[in-house]
Amino acid sequence: MKLSRRLERLGTETAFTVSAAASAWAAKGNKVYPFHLGDIDLPTPAPVVEAMEKAIRDGYTGYCPGAGIPELRAAVSRDVGSKRGVVYGVPNVSIQPGGKPVIGKFLDAVMEPGDEVLYPNPGYPIYESQIEFQNGVAVPYTFIETANGFVLDLDSLKKSITSRTKALIYNNYQNPISAESSPKEMEDLARLAVENDLWVLSDDAYFEIRYGGKPLSIAGYPGMYERTVILYTFSKRFAMTGWRLGAAIGPEKIIEIINKLNTNNESCTTHFIQKALAQTMETECAGPDEILSTLKNRRDAAVAGLRAIDGVSVGAPNCTFYLYPNVTEVMKRKGFSDVDMLMRDALEKSNVSFCTRNHFGKPLPGETEHYVRFAYSGLDVADIEEGMASLKRYFEG
Ligand code: PMP
Repeated sequence: MKLSRRLERLGTETAFTVSAAASAWAAKGNKVYPFHLGDIDLPTPAPVVEAMEKAIRDGYTGYCPGAGIPELRAAVSRDVGSKRGVVYGVPNVSIQPGGKPVIGKFLDAVMEPGDEVLYPNPGYPIYESQIEFQNGVAVPYTFIETANGFVLDLDSLKKSITSRTKALIYNNYQNPISAESSPKEMEDLARLAVENDLWVLSDDAYFEIRYGGKPLSIAGYPGMYERTVILYTFSKRFAMTGWRLGAAIGPEKIIEIINKLNTNNESCTTHFIQKALAQTMETECAGPDEILSTLKNRRDAAVAGLRAIDGVSVGAPNCTFYLYPNVTEVMKRKGFSDVDMLMRDALEKSNVSFCTRNHFGKPLPGETEHYVRFAYSGLDVADIEEGMASLKRYFEG
């Protein structure tokens, strides 16, 4: 009996293998500083937890509509629309068990075998995995490091567009590099999508994880409404990654297809969780602000710690909870050519665990600089400082 050949093209989040290595090292009695985890160690805000407990006691424990319960779809449409300057209604929202399922379902809905899809690399690894698994051609676009952080390499992106290009995946407030488009960069990208008649997946997973300024979404630019599907998630904003709740938001014709996919795949997303967030997502609740201010303190500690290390350069991004330092000098000092060797050695010699560039899509030809990714969302400030001091001793030694 043979398994499907398609499986050869299925990727994964290889960051989970870093977790396994960190756990194995901790099991030997070592204190590990877990900067590899893209998870949040803060509690879900109490009003959300209480609403969920009440919903389960009130009996919202059975199936519900595959598209999601109307009250939650309405709340999401108001919240997401008003923050992006777009008018959405209930038919524009399909509730999902997390933000992640939107990626595969979007591709299911728009991509034929052999179609090309532009995706960010380095980027969230599931884009590349899903495009290839579903028989598409994954066409990477990348970023240029400047004195003010990373900018999109729009020229090369433009040159990669062909008659087979069907869609663009765009993750503003980006994982892993925390890139943030200027209004001009976003406008140029929107114009390219319109001129080339592309579908756009706007992964807004970190739209709310910002430490200042007004967030921007490509969905609000001219000509974008009818071609954009937003990946929305409750995971980060409400520190509820394990609850699994998110949504696809976009034009009705594509949301109807995604609803049909829900019925085929999950039947529906957990009923009492939807009920809880329908009641709390729009109410004044200090939770999200407290989460943000905790994350900001952690960012400051992590940036200061990294900047104190000779041979490491890093920006202080205004969004997400990731830092993407350039460690090329450290690699030279240590005599490593593969950044994963640095990662493995660092775990054993400093107890600091982190991901590398290699966990965020297949490395591109011509890359000469070396980068690693630190997530500061899963450690308190004291552990961040301790971990960074340990890393400094190792990186400089
Ligand atoms: N997109 C990006 C860029 C992410 O980093 C993540 C989670 N790390 C997701 C989507 C998926 O989030 P969720 O937990 O809601 O599935």
